[in-house]
Amino acid sequence: MPRVFKDNEIVIASHNSGKVTEIGELLKPFGMRAISASNLGLEEPDETGKTFSENAELKAKHAASACSKPALADDSGLCVDLLGGKPGIYSARWAGKDKNFSVGIKRIENEIIDSGETPGGQSAYFICALSLCWEDFYCDTFVGRIDGTLSFPPRGQQGFGYDPIFIPNGFKITFGEMNPKRKHAMSHRASAFKQLVDRCIAINGLK
Ligand code: IMP
Repeated sequence: MPRVFKDNEIVIASHNSGKVTEIGELLKPFGMRAISASNLGLEEPDETGKTFSENAELKAKHAASACSKPALADDSGLCVDLLGGKPGIYSARWAGKDKNFSVGIKRIENEIIDSGETPGGQSAYFICALSLCWEDFYCDTFVGRIDGTLSFPPRGQQGFGYDPIFIPNGFKITFGEMNPKRKHAMSHRASAFKQLVDRCIAINGLK
């Protein structure tokens, strides 16, 4: 079936306001309006997937089925090579139920110390899997990645989550210190989003 956007609204299947804002900004140039799943009163499904892509798809399907509109979900996180890719899909959970990222950041710092290294300079990357689920529950899923290194103590008030400890390769400042527009132009989410837009243009949805 042809998959097109019938109106300019797309449900963002996330209750993370930082992410909804960031995706909303990425969608603006295409005349699309992001509606947050939490504003529609949608429950968050359990993230039972084993990969970023599986989690993105299950969240997008859940929102598309509840709203009968195309829904976009991302699953993202920070992977630290020294820690075997942790926290990875558990990035949000490491911040605890209060979503306090200083707790998640401290845990990363402690696990690095436990592994025998001094925190700072470890290679890490952010991954974002972005899944667009159409009304017929077909999903297009794209994965973006940005590589960098960790820096302690955390620096900067911009962004969210683990931004204050992540320095993208080629820069000296953390995402937390970076102008959000600059981050949005290079982030793992921007990369996944670019692939999504290219695909939607190819299908016929976005102009
Ligand atoms: P989830 O995708 O909702 O499961 O949450 C992913 C978690 O990964 C977020 O809550 C943040 O902790 C982290 N994360 C994902 N993307 C970013 C980012 O761009 N900056 C900082 N932290 C991020």
